[in-house]
Amino acid sequence: MRGAVMHAPGYVEVVDRPDPKLLAPTDAIVRLSATCICGSDLWPWRGADQVRDPTPMGHEYVGTIEQVGDEVTTIKVGDFVVGSFFTSDNTCEICRAGYQSRCTNAYPMGNEGTQAEYARVPMADGTLVATPGQPDADLVPSLLAASDVLGTGWFGAVAAEAGPGKTVAVVGDGAVGLLAVLAARQLGAERVIAMSRHEPRQKLALEFGATDIVAERGDEGAARIKDLTGGYGAHSVIEAVGTQESMMQAVRSTRPGGHVGYVGVSHGVELPGKELFFSGVHLHGGPAPVRRFLPELIQQICEHKIYPGKVFDLELPLERAAEGYRAMDERRAIKVLLRT
Ligand SMILES: [Zn+2]
Repeated sequence: MRGAVMHAPGYVEVVDRPDPKLLAPTDAIVRLSATCICGSDLWPWRGADQVRDPTPMGHEYVGTIEQVGDEVTTIKVGDFVVGSFFTSDNTCEICRAGYQSRCTNAYPMGNEGTQAEYARVPMADGTLVATPGQPDADLVPSLLAASDVLGTGWFGAVAAEAGPGKTVAVVGDGAVGLLAVLAARQLGAERVIAMSRHEPRQKLALEFGATDIVAERGDEGAARIKDLTGGYGAHSVIEAVGTQESMMQAVRSTRPGGHVGYVGVSHGVELPGKELFFSGVHLHGGPAPVRRFLPELIQQICEHKIYPGKVFDLELPLERAAEGYRAMDERRAIKVLLRT
């Protein structure tokens, strides 16, 4: 099969990779309908994460089941499925508490490299969720978004306790931040402030339900959030970047007693203890347990209630994956869908 590999920072190539095979009786093989490039794939592209040579890339996926192992019971050949970027048994205590991304048996799908035509999914029963029937082609981008960016934005909003009567601020205008806006609104937040300086992203944030836009960032951004909330700060702030600046912007935009949901993959973030102590904010986050939300998100997508697939503003054939990385790196594209 064809699949994207990264040789070094800034160097992605689509090559022949071995077809995945069932390795355990709980595995499934999925023929991918579409895959995509994640903001987190830009960390190694930019040299912020180490690259083993050559590394298969990608951890987001939707598609049709080709093959299942003997012990797979809930997923069958022909099902159209969505899965998370971490596999989960969905039976251990951590999973049952809703933290499937930290399952005691979690395995990162990034190791399989889903920017490819096929992927092996371990623990298929606990990881994959089938859609009700075959989805229309126009739903595929939204279902693909559910695999990571929507699920992650949703978790950010839940971790920040977005809900009725709340003012929610979102730090970060990548796909996750934009979908956190959508999630906060769907969860009933009264006011959703998107923090973005980029006009096309501001527009999409408004489409997803943002009520206000703040273009300032860092401490200036936090000061603007305080101005907009009677000096208090937001009840809920979603951090969707993962840098020191964005994390402090999130903490400083939150009122005492409020909640920060942090879902940007942390890179070099160090929290000052004394400031944290006196901030009085709740911090919760981490790799999103997307599996927890998938049944509900799939249902909302299939009923045409939400259109998270709008974050894909560039579509390329898989063979041109490198172009997609460049477009996202240069912020010419919010998120790139790769047709397999
Ligand atoms: Zn588990």
